[in-house]
Amino acid sequence: MTNSPWSPSSWRAKPVRYIPDDYPDLGALARVEAELARLPPLVHAEEVRRLREALGQVAEGKAFLLQGGDCAESFKEFSAANVRGTFQLLLQMAGVLTFAGGCPVVKVGRIAGQFAKPRSNATETLNGVTLPSYRGDIINGMEFDARERTPDPQRLLRAYHQSAETMQLVRDFAREGYTDLTRLLGHRPESEGAVRPVDFFTSHEALLLNVEQAMTRADEATGGWYDTSAHMLWIGERTRQLDGGHVEFMRGIQNPIGLKCGPTMEPDDLVRLIDTLNPQGIPGKLTLIGRFGSDQVAARLPRLMAATRRHGSPVVWSIDPMHGNTHKASNGYKTRSLERILAEVMGFLQVAAAEGVHPGGLHLEMTGQDVTECLGGPLDVSEDDLSDRYHTHCDPRLNADQSLQLAFRVADGLHT
Ligand code: PEP
Ligand code: MN
Repeated sequence: MTNSPWSPSSWRAKPVRYIPDDYPDLGALARVEAELARLPPLVHAEEVRRLREALGQVAEGKAFLLQGGDCAESFKEFSAANVRGTFQLLLQMAGVLTFAGGCPVVKVGRIAGQFAKPRSNATETLNGVTLPSYRGDIINGMEFDARERTPDPQRLLRAYHQSAETMQLVRDFAREGYTDLTRLLGHRPESEGAVRPVDFFTSHEALLLNVEQAMTRADEATGGWYDTSAHMLWIGERTRQLDGGHVEFMRGIQNPIGLKCGPTMEPDDLVRLIDTLNPQGIPGKLTLIGRFGSDQVAARLPRLMAATRRHGSPVVWSIDPMHGNTHKASNGYKTRSLERILAEVMGFLQVAAAEGVHPGGLHLEMTGQDVTECLGGPLDVSEDDLSDRYHTHCDPRLNADQSLQLAFRVADGLHT
């Protein structure tokens, strides 16, 4: 735990991982950071506080969190239709879960800023040529070419502007969304009553701390620091070191934050992180996102849940059944099977029931597009089908059919 003074830049004195250190022109990078600091906020402190309150309800067992979207947003796949597809899919899944669980569903997109990726391998070798790995469109390009793979600070600005446009689309859809959903579910004819906007929030992994710092502003109403790049930010499995820069940055912002909890996390690590990230035990402040793999959830999760129950701090427990269940298909595609994804979610529900903990949420990589990236589902995507529509810029996503099937199965599981 750390008691030293916090500032939006105090993370710079700590060790950090996965932030590029190979920009060819550091002056150009600094100029872009200064420009980002002058650009308008993408979200408002008031909205951030509303999400924290909604997540507080989840922590109390009175609501459920649905968080999902692309593994990595990209410049190429950006369109109003794609944003709408993912937005509407999240709403449909939330509808299924609301009716089954009998409680409100808090809807959070991995959207409008989910660009930067921590890669397991820093370099990639092809035909004897070694280049830096692709790290997301906000850093470098996917093409296997030395110039493309060199980090370019202009990409930070392009990602900001795309996020702002995405935010605008999401706000527009959210205004229309509720009538769409109620019509879909056969309630409330159009003529009746006022349109109620959907509460929809944005999130991404807070990986590029230089960007997050630039977007962090003091709120005039409360004096607190808000990271205005998204409503919710999370700390990835690879950057959750207690003495590292990512934990340092995240402990000072008022936003709700997520913490990925993988198979190597021990109860002691978790308790120290909780005490550092949410020392005052504010409900809705901290969401723990388990990501163990279907074969490890039963072994690793019980003692972490037992530790949070004993500790008493109000956390949301959510499950990411994607990142522990990735494998290479026989034809080389990185994929995931819906069966294993479902098995991890069911394992999560069982462990939560046994530990007396509210199974509070679901964290998914998914898209409204009809992609063939994960195996199984209603149309039983096979290894041979993967090459048909494999569009992801990083990890394989569930398509709309697979996501809805998952929502129905989870709804069943929540019921029993
Ligand atoms: C992710 O959510 O895309 C990710 C990289 O997850 P994790 O940090 O859990 O591996
Ligand atoms: Mn991913």
